[in-house]
Order: sequence, then structure tokens, then C-alpha cells
Amino acid sequence: MNFPDLNTKSILVTGASRGIGKTIALTLAAQKAHVVFNYRGDETKAQELAAEIEKAGGRATALKFDVTDVEAMTKALDAYFAAGNTLQGLVNNAGISKDQLMLRVKPQDIEDLFNVNLKGSMILTNYLSKHLMKAGGASIVNMSSIVGLMGNAAQTVYATTKAGMIGFTKAVAKELASRQVRANAVCPGFITTEMTDALPDKAKETYAANIPLGRFGETQDVANLVTFLLSDASKYITGEVIKIDGGLYI
Ligand code: NAP
Repeated sequence: MNFPDLNTKSILVTGASRGIGKTIALTLAAQKAHVVFNYRGDETKAQELAAEIEKAGGRATALKFDVTDVEAMTKALDAYFAAGNTLQGLVNNAGISKDQLMLRVKPQDIEDLFNVNLKGSMILTNYLSKHLMKAGGASIVNMSSIVGLMGNAAQTVYATTKAGMIGFTKAVAKELASRQVRANAVCPGFITTEMTDALPDKAKETYAANIPLGRFGETQDVANLVTFLLSDASKYITGEVIKIDGGLYI
């Protein structure tokens, strides 16, 4: 891949400490982008990630905030912009899952999943929208999921938050298009990360057997798509919901 415009862009990726978000951060770094990422507590790990981004060819800025902590998020981003930085891209990737049959879901689980997966992304986008409008040709990528489209047993709450991300993406795309800000949603199927490692082996086998391409995806598969959506190569694509699932939901 070669998207030369990315080397002039600063892009915030949430949840870049591991999994899909980390691969997105390193793929953007390989395109020489300025990668801005949040971290929740571990300074050493954040410094290690910044070093990896720089080694891969990018510039790195680490901001300390949890996406559910509006005060910390606002403080970190206010300081980022006060220092003269700009932002041309946002990847709302941070997310959690707590798989449980509806019968056993606790009200606190619903709170937690909505706070991280949906409200965190909405509050961050809300804060950043004026900065993205100023940037000229900015791109937002929201991490949804195939289960937001097709549902899944034992994922009622997770699927609801991911379906919410789709409505959110489409509304933002319509609202910000006149300012040349694009918004698209990505719907991964089963991708090998710590999130899916937590599934029992039997469940993994059953899921893989239902994937026409016969396997779980890799984080790089998703990162390639996200990088394209952040680049000018996709500059006429907005409001789209793109599945990346090995054919799981054909
Ligand atoms: P992961 O390996 O579990 O990583 C989740 C990331 O989100 C971590 O960096 C984590 O940071 C961060 N995060 C969690 N809660 C946070 C919070 N409150 N504030 C800030 N950051 C927070 O997950 P993944 O598999 O890479 O998934 C990434 C995204 O893709 C998620 O939105 C997920 O729903 C979506 N997705 C994944 C799959 C899949 O098969 N893996 C499929 C469809 C969609 P810490 O290290 O600080 O915990």
C-alpha cells in the first residue's frame, strides 16, 4: 500500500495498545503518518508503543485518557490542540465485549458496554468535530462489527452498541459532508486478537466452520481497509458500512 497523503496527516486511533488498534497504528506509521493514540495508565507501555510507531516510520503522540472519562479526554485533547497540533483523521476503535446470554446480562454490563463502545466514540467525535471540519478532507472510521448487522446469541448488548455505531456513522456522514469530513463504519467478522482469544476453543471452531474463507481474519486485514478509508484514495466514500468478515455474512 502506498498512500502518500497520509504522511501529512495526524490521525487519532483509540484503543491502540493491542489488537486491531495497534496494527492500525503501525500500518499508519509505515505510511509516515503522525499517529496519536490514547492510553489508560501504563506509561511504560505507551512509551514502548510510541517507539514502535517511530521505528515503523511514523511520528507518535501519546495522550492519557480513558474514552469513558470525559474530563481527562477533554484535558488531554485541549493540551494537544493548544500546542498547535491539528487532526485530519479519527479511528474510534476502543471497545470491549462481555459475552453473556440476555437472561444473565447485568444492568452494569449494559452501562459498561454502552459507555465504552458507543458513548465514548460519540463524545470523542463530538469534541473533535470542529477540529476535523477545520482540517479540510478529514476522515472518521468507526469500528463496528458484523454482529451489529446480523446479531449474535450471547452478544445482545455488544451487538446493540455496534449497530448503534452504524446509525451514528451515517448521521455524522450526512451532517459533516458539506465540510468535507467523511465518516465510514467498518464491520469486522472474527479477527484473531485478545478479544476473540477469550472465546472457548469449541466456539472458535464452530465460528470458523461458518466462514466461507475458512478462517478468522488477521488484524492486518482490518488495518489495510482502515488505512485506505483514512487516505485520499477513498475521498468519494462516505456513510458506507463495510464488512470485512471472510464472507461470514454474505
Ligand atoms: P482488544 O484486543 O480487546 O483491544 C481493545 C482496545 O480497546 C485496547 O487497546 C484497550 O485498551 C482499548 N480500550 C478498552 N476500553 C477502553 C477505554 N475505556 N478507554 C480507552 N481504551 C479502551 O480488542 P480488538 O479485538 O482489537 O477490537 C478492537 C475493536 O474492534 C473493538 O471496537 C471491537 O469491538 C472491534 N471488533 C473486534 C473484532 C474481533 O474479532 N477482534 C470483531 C469485530 C469488531 P487497554 O489496553 O487499556 O485495555
